[in-house]
Amino acid sequence: MPEEARVLSARIWRPMLEQAAREAPYEACGVVVGDAQGCPLRYHPLRNAAGRLDWFEPDRRELLQLTMALEDAGETLWGIYHSHPRSPARPSSSDVEGAAYPESLYLIASLLRPGAPVLRAFRIVDGRVAEVSLVLET
Ligand SMILES: [Zn+2]
Repeated sequence: MPEEARVLSARIWRPMLEQAAREAPYEACGVVVGDAQGCPLRYHPLRNAAGRLDWFEPDRRELLQLTMALEDAGETLWGIYHSHPRSPARPSSSDVEGAAYPESLYLIASLLRPGAPVLRAFRIVDGRVAEVSLVLET
């Protein structure tokens, strides 16, 4: 059964897309923090430590510190986000291989079409990818 649609408010998705535009042609990355009930609370940009155009690797120290702080605060890693400056908004084979958080959503923004970014969400569990519909509030 498909998962229910998730709603993101503009104060979360706008900064994600702005960061993607700012960091292009490099991939941008960050996380969406959620509350204990699984509702998205805020966006937290991370530094892409990969230093490559076509790959993202959140800075490990930053991510570790963040996940520890979230645990202490009773919050969750609602979503893991990165951008695809030159490819469609779906997980690449390396994205699927590297997906280590089955309980988080994977959010991908594509900047392939100038001026019309596309943001999509996926669940990636054991190499299987399922899209989760995303409602972007304005
Ligand atoms: Zn990717």
